[in-house]
Amino acid sequence: MVAAPRVGVLALQGDVREHDRALLAAGAVSSHVRRPEHLDDLDGLVLPGGESTTISRLLEVFELLDPLRKLVADGLPVYGSCAGMILLAREVLDGRPDQQGVGGLDVVVRRNAFGRQVDSFEADLDFAEVGSVHAVFIRAPWVESVGEGVQVLATVPGGGPAAGRVVAVRQGSVLATSFHPELTGDHRVHGRFVDLVKETLA
Ligand code: GLN
Repeated sequence: MVAAPRVGVLALQGDVREHDRALLAAGAVSSHVRRPEHLDDLDGLVLPGGESTTISRLLEVFELLDPLRKLVADGLPVYGSCAGMILLAREVLDGRPDQQGVGGLDVVVRRNAFGRQVDSFEADLDFAEVGSVHAVFIRAPWVESVGEGVQVLATVPGGGPAAGRVVAVRQGSVLATSFHPELTGDHRVHGRFVDLVKETLA
């Protein structure tokens, strides 16, 4: 039998335990990344939600930014949720000028895009290759534009002001969602990511 893939969860800030649980349910073994040496021998990595400006600063303080950039550029499968999506984006609108990113995803994202009135909300999305997903958005970004190799996986439904906004994307083995699937007990988005990790190991 093939061993369960080893997926690190960046554990500087944010909802780390919920990702552990979802990864375990999806058939992976998770470990926490706080130091560069914790990146050794990982098959994939999750960048959780939290506050992207804080995570960015902590990545620099803990000397993780450069090793992470290199690993992702070299093809380590990575899944970013919310702040994690912001960290992966090629360009961030409404970010802080000193905010550093990991890169790897050819998209432009807008931070806190849904505005103050509706900064947290829930919606049922049609998620490509997964099906209907109940999505929890918390001061979420959206994807403003995507590059050529990026597949749009989900958009905001309905007729409201945010209808049609892109909230889930994939570029090769880089997956990102504006929302937090780890909070709902539905592990299919993590399952999709673990499948991508397994594909790179095959
Ligand atoms: N608004 C946060 C940021 O800019 C992201 C929120 C989240 O991860 N839930 O980083």
